[in-house]
Amino acid sequence: MADYNPITPEIIAELSKAVPGRVMVGDSVNPDYARDEMPIYGTRMPEVSIDVLSTEEVAAIVKICYENRIPVTTRGAGTGLVGGCTPICGGVVICTAKMNKILSYDLENFAVTVQPGVLLQQLAEDALTHGCLYPPDPGEKLATLGGNVATNASGMRGVKYGATRDYVKAMTVVLPTGEVTRFGATVSKTSSGYSLLNLMIGSEGTLGIITELTLKLIPAPKATISLIAPFAGLAECISTVPKFKMNHFDPQAIEFFEKEILISSEEYLGKQVFPRRVEGCQVGAYLLITFDGDSQDELEPVIERAAEMLLAEGALDVLVADTPPRLKSAWAARSSFLEGIEEQTKLLDECDVVVPVPRIPEYVVYVDELAKNYDFHVQYFGHAGDGNLHIYTCSNDMEREEFLRQVDSFMASVYQKAMELGGQISGEHGIGMGKVKYLAQAAGPINMALMQGIKQVFDPRMILNPGKVCRSLDC
Ligand SMILES: Cc1cc2nc3c(=O)[nH]c(=O)nc-3n(C[C@H](O)[C@H](O)[C@H](O)COP(=O)(O)OP(=O)(O)OC[C@H]3O[C@@H](n4cnc5c(N)ncnc54)[C@H](O)[C@@H]3O)c2cc1C
Repeated sequence: MADYNPITPEIIAELSKAVPGRVMVGDSVNPDYARDEMPIYGTRMPEVSIDVLSTEEVAAIVKICYENRIPVTTRGAGTGLVGGCTPICGGVVICTAKMNKILSYDLENFAVTVQPGVLLQQLAEDALTHGCLYPPDPGEKLATLGGNVATNASGMRGVKYGATRDYVKAMTVVLPTGEVTRFGATVSKTSSGYSLLNLMIGSEGTLGIITELTLKLIPAPKATISLIAPFAGLAECISTVPKFKMNHFDPQAIEFFEKEILISSEEYLGKQVFPRRVEGCQVGAYLLITFDGDSQDELEPVIERAAEMLLAEGALDVLVADTPPRLKSAWAARSSFLEGIEEQTKLLDECDVVVPVPRIPEYVVYVDELAKNYDFHVQYFGHAGDGNLHIYTCSNDMEREEFLRQVDSFMASVYQKAMELGGQISGEHGIGMGKVKYLAQAAGPINMALMQGIKQVFDPRMILNPGKVCRSLDC
């Protein structure tokens, strides 16, 4: 573990000179800065927090911390689910949430330049006023774009449009030395050496601090239609998913979920949208599928063909959401699964494994069988169209230590099985501090040594976000 220095009054004075009026110390630090949305992995207050407004401020702070060997953890909105922005070694938290300006659009190149604290929702809405879509669509719309890029977040539209990585053209970065550099360019392709840009994407604040982003946009589709397909059971529901691609459909999103999780979400929202019974038959699971295109006319034959396929595969019915209010209601229920679970659960952990799409049915059967061996309750849902499953372990009556012990054993098995099926341990949430040991097992010694070597080159004093991703605190 790196040997860090304490933050002395002299260092605080230096920081205050660099960022007058915004250096918070001790009790004046916002308690939220001790954690993200998954406190089960641990919490720790930083000694100092600073809400930054510019690249120059970030560079000045990091330079002081580099020279004095003080740990620095970057934070966006703190909506992460793996303890990524939790300052486990204390030190300084730099929060980029107030760097929240959309700086400029370059509509000739379908690009937009933003500060890292711009919220996903803010850019999504603003881009539409320019006739453009910013395709990445993670469930938490109040996350920052800096956080989204740092975790390579993804979401509902990943099936058609890919992940955040596919929409990052360039960025300004403050390195752990305090030097400022720029990675990438507003070009359509590049073969210009190692992609430092791509190394930064998904590096979870361990290699540098992103202070500006140039992101790719696409022309906004003019029509969107969703289908709700209820099934009697999960098996036929989930085995329908690979058939979309096999039948040459190009949906924007394919989500699957069981009735139980839907009910918690609908109770949380106070509104029922999805049918619970169809012609006397109990619904067990659902697919929610979205298609987009240039017009309703273009989509209608696609919808018809997709509905026929769904019914042939065992759907009890196919409901069409083709108006903005209907689309909003259907997706509101889907987007509130985590909040619904959180509201009803005292002890909660989760993982977001990803497996090849055709292996999902087998994987889900495995998880169901495995769950029978534990005292907590297991709930899951997923971005079925890209093989990404969110599995939650929930308990209201277990002792915390026992819960953690059982979760550890459960997670080891679900990750092991995902790897056996050709999967990966995280599809979109990242590694943070919650999944470090599982990454080490999954990646193996050769790949871990490569990742640790990259970290060493970027951050020779190990000051940036210690104890995350590829380096636990004891290595
Ligand atoms: C209800 C809910 C639903 C969610 N749904 C999804 C989903 O569908 N898909 C998905 O991918 N995630 C999802 N998440 C997780 C979370 O929203 C994402 O991980 C998001 O990208 C985090 O952004 P943030 O601004 O909150 O970052 P934080 O949580 O503040 O930080 C996350 C990581 O990014 C680093 N970081 C933040 N800003 C910067 C920066 N400027 N420079 C360098 N590093 C930085 C931090 O150090 C940390 O390691 C969900 C979370 C919740 C609570």
